[in-house]
Amino acid sequence: MRSKLVVGNWKMNGSRAANATLLNGILEGLGQPRAAVAVCVPAPYLFQCEALLQGSPIAWGAQDVSCHPVGAYTGEVCMSMLQDFGSRYVIVGHSERRAYHGESDALVAKKAKAALDAGLTPIVCVGETLEQREAGHTMAVVGAQLDAVLEAVGAEAVGKIVLAYEPVWAIGTGRTATPAMAQEVHAALRQKLRACNAAAAETTLLLYGGSMKPDNAADLMAQPDIDGGLIGGAALKAADFLGIVHAA
Ligand code: PGA
Repeated sequence: MRSKLVVGNWKMNGSRAANATLLNGILEGLGQPRAAVAVCVPAPYLFQCEALLQGSPIAWGAQDVSCHPVGAYTGEVCMSMLQDFGSRYVIVGHSERRAYHGESDALVAKKAKAALDAGLTPIVCVGETLEQREAGHTMAVVGAQLDAVLEAVGAEAVGKIVLAYEPVWAIGTGRTATPAMAQEVHAALRQKLRACNAAAAETTLLLYGGSMKPDNAADLMAQPDIDGGLIGGAALKAADFLGIVHAA
């Protein structure tokens, strides 16, 4: 049986004061959750996460990272910097990175591999746009996104990545995939993982992301291949985030 994982993706939100309120609120209401919990925050706030969350059940990480180890890459943040502040996770290939920063499947794959090599857990995002879904290309798109990563990281890494299915049309729109729609894609993704590494595919965590809220989280996470959530908007309020954590 796979455990559940709920990850907050704060995106480009936060301030020292707001983060302290949010994290303390989550810590206060957390209790003993069945799910593992993490927050992926803007890089400047990793320091604050380490200070506030060290020794707590909440892990933390970043939302992007360079695929290069160190050096002359102005504006970039590398793996060892994330680790310097105790990060466990890093999101790679979020659709906003793909869309606004031109990140290709190949670059996302490189980042996933570099994260694994450094000992961080990459949360690899895949997802189709509305046009792609309506044209019947969902599986071809997410399949190609996953294949690029699997090729780069190799079969032995299948159980070490976290995969997040985030239909682009559901992100920040209030329009959620139905549990059945999400499960269909999750099952197909797990089938692809099985073809690469049958044993490890059973333990790989597959998160759903895209307008997950306290009131739809339980139904989504009750699906056999949905092992948790990657939460955007609802991760910015302690009560909403806790509602999802406790629905897991
Ligand atoms: P959302 O974002 O929950 O606000 O739809 C999810 C994500 O982009 O990770």
